[in-house]
Amino acid sequence: MSELRWDPLQREWVTVAPWRQDRTYHPLKADCPLCPTRAGEPETEIPEPDYHIAVFENRFPSYTGDQGRCEVVCYTSEHDSSLGAQSVEHIRDLVEVWQDRYTELKGLPNVRYVFIFENRGEEIGVTLSHPHGQIYAYPFVPPRVAREVESSRVHHQETGRCLYCDVLAGESGGERTVASHDTWLAFVPKFARWPYEVHLAPREHAGDITELSEAQADGLAQLLKSVLQKYDALFAKPLAYVMAMHQRPHESSDRDFHFHIEFYPPNRSADKLKMLAGSELGAGAFILDARAEDTAKQLREIGS
Ligand SMILES: [Zn+2]
Ligand SMILES: [Zn+2]
Ligand SMILES: [Zn+2]
Repeated sequence: MSELRWDPLQREWVTVAPWRQDRTYHPLKADCPLCPTRAGEPETEIPEPDYHIAVFENRFPSYTGDQGRCEVVCYTSEHDSSLGAQSVEHIRDLVEVWQDRYTELKGLPNVRYVFIFENRGEEIGVTLSHPHGQIYAYPFVPPRVAREVESSRVHHQETGRCLYCDVLAGESGGERTVASHDTWLAFVPKFARWPYEVHLAPREHAGDITELSEAQADGLAQLLKSVLQKYDALFAKPLAYVMAMHQRPHESSDRDFHFHIEFYPPNRSADKLKMLAGSELGAGAFILDARAEDTAKQLREIGS
């Protein structure tokens, strides 16, 4: 079982899972464990000749047993594809898969937070190139979310309003808008830490992915596709990113936490990466050399 160690200085949990050293590292396409099983070949993680969307438990999990769960979500059986290359209907099916897994995982004992995310691209250390995301069911509420919960609570106490609803209202001028839909908005937040960071949020308040209306779930599929297509067109190559879904912790009674998705691409240009260094890692203070208004304009103008 993995070991949780408490850092009393940062007041955060650190997880130690030594077996992850042995995880599959850049296999050849023919040995991809996320491709469907080919006739006459050894079984992959998915013992089927084809699939639409597949979910299974990570063989090299960070959390196991009564500490939580780690799942892999294969977006498509096609090895050389991506989330953004899927049809809106396919992404809409994925939203439903996310909703199902969220509901199931939050019900497991000792699970305090269900985190849906994707790591994409070798630039951020991805070891399997097959299009896939992950879901971690943590035995604690992770610190970035805990801090957002606290900020939302304080803001609500002070103003009576949802913090993120106010952030969205502040974006109504459109200067930092990347793409929009009736039910969703995508923008580079004024306070972005990464040059091409993008947030996606439902315009109407919802706390987690299962609280989305049909129209909001449809809007999410459409807006995800347009943002991802813009990302890949930006430097005319697949853009690396981390996608992080921030949802209200399922045990929280606060109704004012607003569901949103954050994307952090490491690139600051086609061939230059923003590296986290002294100020960011040592002091926790991000410094960037791009204005959100300029990068948002660049993204907004792609394909429109
Ligand atoms: Zn594959
Ligand atoms: Zn809200
Ligand atoms: Zn957030």
